[in-house]
Amino acid sequence: MLTYEQALKRILNVTPPPRVGVVRLHESLGLVLARPIAARCDLPQFDNSAVDGYAIRSQDIPQATNGHASPVAFHIIGNAEAGRPFRTLIRQREAVRILTGAQIPQGADAVVMQEHVIRQSRQLVIQRWPTSGQNIRRRGEDLCQGTRILEAGTLLRPQEIGLLAAVGVAKVPIYRRPTVAILTTGDELASPGTRLKPGQIHESNGPLLHALVQQAGGRVIDLGTARDAIASLIHKIRQGLACDLLVISGGVSVGEKDFVRTAAQRCGVQQLLWQVSIKPGMPLFVGMHRRRLIFGLPGNPVSVFVTFEEFVKPTLYRLMGREWQDPYTEPAVLIENLKISHTRRTHFIRIRCSQHSQLVAEPLDGQGSHRLRSLVEADGWIRMNAEQGPWSAGARVFVKPAYATSTDRPAFSATSKSQATCY
Ligand code: AMP
Ligand code: MG
Repeated sequence: MLTYEQALKRILNVTPPPRVGVVRLHESLGLVLARPIAARCDLPQFDNSAVDGYAIRSQDIPQATNGHASPVAFHIIGNAEAGRPFRTLIRQREAVRILTGAQIPQGADAVVMQEHVIRQSRQLVIQRWPTSGQNIRRRGEDLCQGTRILEAGTLLRPQEIGLLAAVGVAKVPIYRRPTVAILTTGDELASPGTRLKPGQIHESNGPLLHALVQQAGGRVIDLGTARDAIASLIHKIRQGLACDLLVISGGVSVGEKDFVRTAAQRCGVQQLLWQVSIKPGMPLFVGMHRRRLIFGLPGNPVSVFVTFEEFVKPTLYRLMGREWQDPYTEPAVLIENLKISHTRRTHFIRIRCSQHSQLVAEPLDGQGSHRLRSLVEADGWIRMNAEQGPWSAGARVFVKPAYATSTDRPAFSATSKSQATCY
């Protein structure tokens, strides 16, 4: 049986490279830039006011005022607003009423804040003099036209999208969002919201996978649920093979009704691997069809979660040109001895964390692969394998925070939700 590391390597080795596409800016969140982007204009595009106030010529400021009020009055000759420039040259002792973001009128080189003047009709008495250039946001001070602002490979977050819009970019070259077909299998499954017949359960892997794929950046194609029958599976699998990735839940183990592998093979899918030395998720099946990957995840909900996070998500990241970093990053100490049934397998263990002088990890009760509740209650995960042990109280471990993005630091509670000992 393949180890966790061997299985992941085998999958990533055959994962196709990302494909380049172009999307509109507002559809680019979470995608990766395929080419560098240069600014199409200066930022700011023109000198403009940073405050609401009055634009003046600093040369009109009386000498030796030590920054204090002067009786000199200015004559207000017009208004400059954001989007409505004042187009006349300012002359001696003239001022223009100016609002934040408005272009600085020709001749002016300073803006006095409105809090620092007394205005009487069209006359202005300045109480605190600005210096030359004060309260002016200079053209190009943020960046100049032609500057390379984002490199190829940049993950587009809201802030990158804002910057791209500011420099006039409407469409971006990215690595395409992969389409991911989701197929659930099982005669016992009924949609949430329907009345359950005897022996039925709510179909929860579909919604779980839908959310996981979306969170990872894929576009979901929902194939619904296939019955535990080869013909039903073949029909749905054929549809799924049109997508970049097909993810199936259930029916990959050794029971009489586990037909997914057979059905996939009848659709021309070549087996890449079956069964990995992990817990939960051991019966994982991965196949290939014309350079497309097909994942058959074991049906238990926690197995679905773990095998998605550990194998499907890195694959999706690669398909999107996103860097994959191992998310088990937070050093912690174990609070109790770990009980492990299969000593050769890599275990993924749900834990609760509490922050003391260091992070303390406490395995949750109920690690069964059907226990969805502890999936929700977990603050994080540890990945361990008995051969790397001993995994007894006080051992150092690395925690994967139960977080959407592995790059953000976790916010573990300062007090434990249970009786945690401080190490
Ligand atoms: P299987 O891998 O098909 O043998 O399923 C293993 C366990 O997971 C069984 O208890 C199934 O009822 C359950 N299961 C399979 N698919 C789903 C699903 N889509 N939603 C919830 N539970 C499921
Ligand atoms: Mg089943």
